[in-house]
Amino acid sequence: MQPKIYTSADHHIRNNLVDKNALTVLRVLHEAGHIAYLVGGGVRDLLLRKEPKDFDISTSARPEEVKKLFRSCILIGRRFRLAHVRFGREVVEVATFRAGDPTEGELIVQDNVWGTPEEDVMRRDFTINGLFYDPLDHKIIDYVGGFEDLQKHLLRVIGTPEVRFKQDPVRMIRMLKFRARFGFHVEEQAHEVLQTCKKEIKNSSPARVLEEVFRMLESGASEPFFRLLQETDFLSLLFPGIANYFAQEMSESIYAHLKAADSMNTKGRYRTLERSVLAAALLFPIYEHEIKLRYLAQEKIPHLGDLMDLAHTLVHDLFFDAFSHFPRKIRLDAHSILHMQYRLSPLDQKRRPRTKLIHQKGFRRALVFLKLRALLHPKLFKNYEHWKRIYQKEHAETST
Ligand code: ATP
Ligand code: MG
Repeated sequence: MQPKIYTSADHHIRNNLVDKNALTVLRVLHEAGHIAYLVGGGVRDLLLRKEPKDFDISTSARPEEVKKLFRSCILIGRRFRLAHVRFGREVVEVATFRAGDPTEGELIVQDNVWGTPEEDVMRRDFTINGLFYDPLDHKIIDYVGGFEDLQKHLLRVIGTPEVRFKQDPVRMIRMLKFRARFGFHVEEQAHEVLQTCKKEIKNSSPARVLEEVFRMLESGASEPFFRLLQETDFLSLLFPGIANYFAQEMSESIYAHLKAADSMNTKGRYRTLERSVLAAALLFPIYEHEIKLRYLAQEKIPHLGDLMDLAHTLVHDLFFDAFSHFPRKIRLDAHSILHMQYRLSPLDQKRRPRTKLIHQKGFRRALVFLKLRALLHPKLFKNYEHWKRIYQKEHAETST
């Protein structure tokens, strides 16, 4: 099939928007006689005038050939072999054009079958993610109609939605991710198939699902994403414990915390908030809700020990299902963020907070989270400024 070609007169991408290291890799591959393009999310984001998180490269060169061209290159992955070219701390990922399906699910056994550029596009998920950009002659190469779909704000599956969703159910979550992030509408057929195929998500790898969820928590669009997860029932399929709370009136408080996290997360390639802080944004409103139910509604003030236990129970019950199996470090950090909140802003106003808290492990993270809460409850800014002052003073003293 002949692709549609869009020249620099048709689009606004200029090479100064492309990462310098990625350009170097493309040039070297090209000079060695290989085909090499930018591909995927990077091209999509450039066309949407957003700063791409990463610039992936697809090439006709085999991984071993890429390795020979760059001294700083290492090959990773067995089933899905990739070349990583290092430039200091930055890595440019180079993949060889492949035929067949890209996922690592049980259904796909071998994924190192090399292919043509067209075959490489056909295995990708959505048309907007299936564009190549050739920076050497400034052309966009489009086999799937992704360029027009981007202009129409249309999310369309490459291939038949039912087949593609069954092959890799994570694509359904990715569909919600792009809806939330860009506000695009979805082609009718994919929308319908989502309803019939959603249960298949249980057959996919929890680690991959969780990675997409974390990326969304980091994206600056976590609030609309969780609304979509709830609306489409994925939340109850994936995180039944958390979904219970989203089905109640207090869900608005969770959305508000996610929105506050979104506003603190700079969009584009740099993330601001750590994953444990984002996990806390999901969990803290639930914690607050339980404290109200169990204590405050009965005019009781919980002890610090009770608060620690409750934080522990929630982290354990809600972040420990098959799909919400958060890494241990994130669970521990989220736990300390949660229970430290009531030491930074005591429930019992008479209680004088202890300044030695600033030496406690995880204090800085808890302070970041207090700032997030203050966006929702401005009177907490006073607490935030107070602790920040003490913390900075201490650090200024120890570093001199
Ligand atoms: P993000 O901005 O979150 O990184 P992305 O689209 O770049 O979004 P990646 O996970 O970085 O997502 O994947 C890079 C590219 O690989 C995608 O643009 C798409 O072409 C392809 N891809 C990723 N996941 C899948 C999948 N499950 N099925 C098919 N193609 C996929
Ligand atoms: Mg990407």
